[in-house]
Amino acid sequence: MRPRFNFMWFWAFVAVVIIGYSFMGDSEGRPVDGDWNMVDELVAEGYVERIEVKDKEKASIYLREGAHEELKDDERFKHMPKTGAQVVFNTGGDVQYFAERLAAAEARAREAGEDVEAVVVKYDRTEKGWMDYMFEFLPWILIIAVWIFIMRSMARNAGGGGGGGIMNVGKARAQMSDKNAKQRVTFKDVAGLEEAKVEIMEIVDFLKHADKYKALGAKIPKGALLAGPPGTGKTLLAKAVAGEANVPFLSISGSDFVEMFVGVGASRVRDLFEQAKKVAPCIVFIDEIDAIGRARGKNSGFSGNDERENTLNQLLTEMDGFQTNAGVIVLAATNRVDILDKALMRAGRFDRQIEVGLPDAKERKAIFDVHLRKLKLDDKLDREFLAKQTPGFAGADIANVCNEAALIAARNNHNVVEQSDFLAAIDRIVGGLERRNMPMTPAERRATAIHEIGHATVMWRLKNCDPVLKITIIPRGRSLGATWYLPEERVNHNAEHFVHKMAGLVAGRVAEQQLLGITSTGALNDLERTSKMAYAMVAYYGMSPKVGNISFYDASGQRDMFTKPFSERTAELIDEEVRRLVDEAVAIARDIVETERVNIERLAEVLLEKETIFSEDVEAVLGKSAQQIAKEALEAATAVEATDEAKDKAKNEDNGSDEVTYTVVPAESNDNDKTE
Ligand code: ATP
Repeated sequence: MRPRFNFMWFWAFVAVVIIGYSFMGDSEGRPVDGDWNMVDELVAEGYVERIEVKDKEKASIYLREGAHEELKDDERFKHMPKTGAQVVFNTGGDVQYFAERLAAAEARAREAGEDVEAVVVKYDRTEKGWMDYMFEFLPWILIIAVWIFIMRSMARNAGGGGGGGIMNVGKARAQMSDKNAKQRVTFKDVAGLEEAKVEIMEIVDFLKHADKYKALGAKIPKGALLAGPPGTGKTLLAKAVAGEANVPFLSISGSDFVEMFVGVGASRVRDLFEQAKKVAPCIVFIDEIDAIGRARGKNSGFSGNDERENTLNQLLTEMDGFQTNAGVIVLAATNRVDILDKALMRAGRFDRQIEVGLPDAKERKAIFDVHLRKLKLDDKLDREFLAKQTPGFAGADIANVCNEAALIAARNNHNVVEQSDFLAAIDRIVGGLERRNMPMTPAERRATAIHEIGHATVMWRLKNCDPVLKITIIPRGRSLGATWYLPEERVNHNAEHFVHKMAGLVAGRVAEQQLLGITSTGALNDLERTSKMAYAMVAYYGMSPKVGNISFYDASGQRDMFTKPFSERTAELIDEEVRRLVDEAVAIARDIVETERVNIERLAEVLLEKETIFSEDVEAVLGKSAQQIAKEALEAATAVEATDEAKDKAKNEDNGSDEVTYTVVPAESNDNDKTE
């Protein structure tokens, strides 16, 4: 490999030259600095053999043989060199005066009876060597080098690899997608997200057949915002649009507008839209728009966010300002839609907001299908099972599971990727790395087993808890053991759900206390989650009768940390209610643990022996779970309802009546709501 030129070497060389030169100058035997008095004296004594005058003023005196010996006791000539120029002095530049003064000194000496020989004088002019020039110009060279260095690095930063340069700092670095690229993404690569796909294709259609819409007087939408949690496929969807739409597609990230120079963001926005207008009709995609689209503050003068606000203002103007951007549709993606500026979100700018949520079980299976295409799989692999095992996973997590499973299979020397590899990958992604060699005493292992079985048992007995899947005491990541459950994909929770969930969470601590009489640090995470849940119930969801139907939630995320939106009295009330709710959950857990004492001991023994147990093992000891019983009851009730409906229908048909019957479905009952 060719060694790369590094500026450090250049600086090191310069430093060595400067230091070396200054040392050389200071070396021993430097000629003595003299003046006219000294010259007069030396000439009068007859010591001077010749004088060389360089450039009219630098005179170097060479003494006669033996003069060095004679003068060595004189303090002034102690360090004088033995040969070469021994005394130097400045003539003042006037050659005439120099000659006269020297002649006068010689004449005086002769008058005094000294037998002095005439001093030989040689006038000379130095030719400058390259070194002299170099040292003369060195400071300038250094200044210019530093300047070039700074300018180049500034240009590099501003260009961001895009080959920018300082002059191009205000240019937007949008990438134009190549429709014919080999690696292009199509809608086939995006699993699920059906509604989002339809909406987005509609937008592409507006562009392609604008006349059809305009003929009816419809205005073409200006933009659509893809909003949703990280990794749900927003960028992928946009890439697919680029691949499928037959219009130019410019993509840029929100952070590309951010630069250390003032005014650059706004100028880049302007430039982006100028580029877009040139190729219109086209789509502009801004990823992570929250980087610039954050709500503008009221006191921005103090927050130092002026630059970002200027950028946002420019974006607002470009999207719906005085000049129209005909034929430019802006797509943007964010996972912080709540913090975006209201003006950005209004109709006329981002007319449509497309929700890209976490996938449900069916969509997860479809995403698995997409990512499993590239893997060599075991025939027995159950994709539906995998989809069920991964609730709450985003598309990116599923892609990660597939890759991790393939890595695990390779490590285990499997010929194909098996179901067990996938399960190990899921465990690893959720729980972290297995730490089988972690030192644990038998007592600690038993306490962990009781703790986990405590969770599982209480969750098994409460119908609003999530179904338990498996329990393990193999340490992973930072946890000593874990109870895995399948979170129900429920969008609306009532107070009872929360209290049951909290009871399930505190159950580990309760079981340890009641069965072993110990209170350990292992419950930290459980307690943290319980407390947060209780605070959310009281302060956000208005689920406490004492505090009332008030929410202190701030969706904009703009509240500062120091001011509470409630009084000290309310704060005390909130604390009191949180305590009551947690106590309620603990009481429920205590009841169940007390009743199931023997079963918990039995299950803990099984767990200690097997290290990981599954829902079937729990069912063998505890019988059917409360969730299972509730599900069966619901199914039975639905079956009865269906038969009643069938009977009614038959009756109506008999009567030949055209009357339509409406079934009123009661809203979810809140009878058991503990806070009411
Ligand atoms: P972020 O908000 O963090 O930028 P995002 O929503 O833009 O996330 P993407 O970058 O689109 O997420 O997705 C990351 C990866 O996840 C994709 O490259 C793809 O492999 C996978 N993925 C996500 N959703 C899907 C999906 N619906 N179908 C197939 N793969 C998906």
